[in-house]
Amino acid sequence: MSQTKYIFVTGGVVSGLGKGIIASSIGKLLQARGYKVTIQKLDPYLNIDPGTLNPYEHGECYVTIDGAETDLDLGHYERFLNHETTQANNITTGRIYRNVIEKERRGDFLGKTVQIIPHITDEIKRNIQLIGNKGYDFVITEIGGTVGDIESLPFLEAIRQMKWEMGNNCLFVHLTLVPFIKASQEMKTKPTQHSVKQLQQAGIQPDILILRTEYDIPADICKKVGRFCNVDFEAVVQSVDQKTIYQVPIAMEEQHLDETILKKFGIEPKEMTGMESWCSFVKKLYNPKTTIQIALVGKYVELPDAYKSILEAFIHAGATQECKVSVKLVNSEEITEENVKEKLSECSGILVAPGFGQRGIQGKITAIQYARTQNVPFLGICLGMQCAVIEFARNVLGYKSADSIEMCETTKYPVIDIMADQKNITEKGGTMRLGGYPCKIQKDSRAFEIYGSENIVERHRHRYEFNNHYLQDFENAGMKATGINPDTGLVEIVEIPSHPWFVAVQFHPEYRSTVVQPHPLFIAFVKAAMKYCKQ
Ligand code: GLN
Repeated sequence: MSQTKYIFVTGGVVSGLGKGIIASSIGKLLQARGYKVTIQKLDPYLNIDPGTLNPYEHGECYVTIDGAETDLDLGHYERFLNHETTQANNITTGRIYRNVIEKERRGDFLGKTVQIIPHITDEIKRNIQLIGNKGYDFVITEIGGTVGDIESLPFLEAIRQMKWEMGNNCLFVHLTLVPFIKASQEMKTKPTQHSVKQLQQAGIQPDILILRTEYDIPADICKKVGRFCNVDFEAVVQSVDQKTIYQVPIAMEEQHLDETILKKFGIEPKEMTGMESWCSFVKKLYNPKTTIQIALVGKYVELPDAYKSILEAFIHAGATQECKVSVKLVNSEEITEENVKEKLSECSGILVAPGFGQRGIQGKITAIQYARTQNVPFLGICLGMQCAVIEFARNVLGYKSADSIEMCETTKYPVIDIMADQKNITEKGGTMRLGGYPCKIQKDSRAFEIYGSENIVERHRHRYEFNNHYLQDFENAGMKATGINPDTGLVEIVEIPSHPWFVAVQFHPEYRSTVVQPHPLFIAFVKAAMKYCKQ
């Protein structure tokens, strides 16, 4: 296509309607018609990135290949499009202001008064177009928050200006809620009308309306909404609650959302050719032949969004095996030696989650001891691997006080140490070891069997590492380091070959699992758990 087209997705009425899934679904459908698509998220908060946010605030922090700590919606974008995102795909208000203030300090504004309009809005537009200039046919930009928020006003103003400047190369999609009032058995469109009014006040006329709803909305109500909001009837689409998020692109396609979008841009739609593997995934997902339960041991169990990518990776991997993976979130703070069996005995696999800090550590170690001694398939991720190392040191090597320097600075056996280049870092934001790093896998290992390759690249987010001073002790006692960073010697994978399936990794495989490319580690783990379940 000659010029990149921009699709802006805004939301109204309430937050949490699934703008990220709608943006991803539109992206998927356009991609399936052969267009080059990327999705970007603009977040209205002042943090430079979500890396410093507690998961309770914002769910999981997703990490891109280039080491950006980003909003979890980028995980959806990658899982749907099977296309890597980068720092450019997630911009916050904090980053925009920082860039502008840095320019001001450099003197770039030549003595002018620096203002929200035009300087902040120009910087927003620059960041949207920066990604557009990379050769995409479509850039879908999701505006975080809800229209009417004070915080998102500069974003709305920037996209209004883009439409003004670029005309038919920009399109607005607005997602709202149509609630169903039980007492009167009525669907209410007023909140949508108000939300669109608010958008119009910002100078934006939506081209497409997507109505999130619990139940099917009758055609006459859709027509009414369209009439009130100046939107063609065919461009009023409903997003009825689905069994899974992976049904949403299919539901949007059924209502011809992609064709309507292309028509509005004046583009003759290319043929839809790329939905086959998606549909076959969904079919398998809905027709499992077996079910297994896997325990996810972590400390954010009240908030499954904290483990979003792990939960999705299980869905992808399970579907390949036509197996429903039911994930039991187990609070590590509640696990004790007395109750560990009762809490985990129904599970055919145990995953110990990533995390930070002391809270819940002992429970994780106890869960790992159980998995190791009872031959239950085990996958440790990041802190989960570090805990596996500590457990082995304490209970096999007999280093009773072994610990990570993160949990106990004065431990006699620092089997997990701070990385050398982390020692003098004081700033918290964006300073961990982040993003893709190579790992070389030993040939005669389970990891090699799983990856089928000696050289892999996986994404990271940590400050601490396996202490190589103890490596020989571990290997002699049966825990092998089978994956090593070829440049630094840092241990990336450990395994216990005498155990049916015990693999722990310093990196985060979950960030790389997508619908059409489920992650091999998760597939292998699910297979091991299925085998264990049969026995
Ligand atoms: N807290 C550990 C570290 O920084 C593990 C981090 C994680 O699990 N992502 O090394």
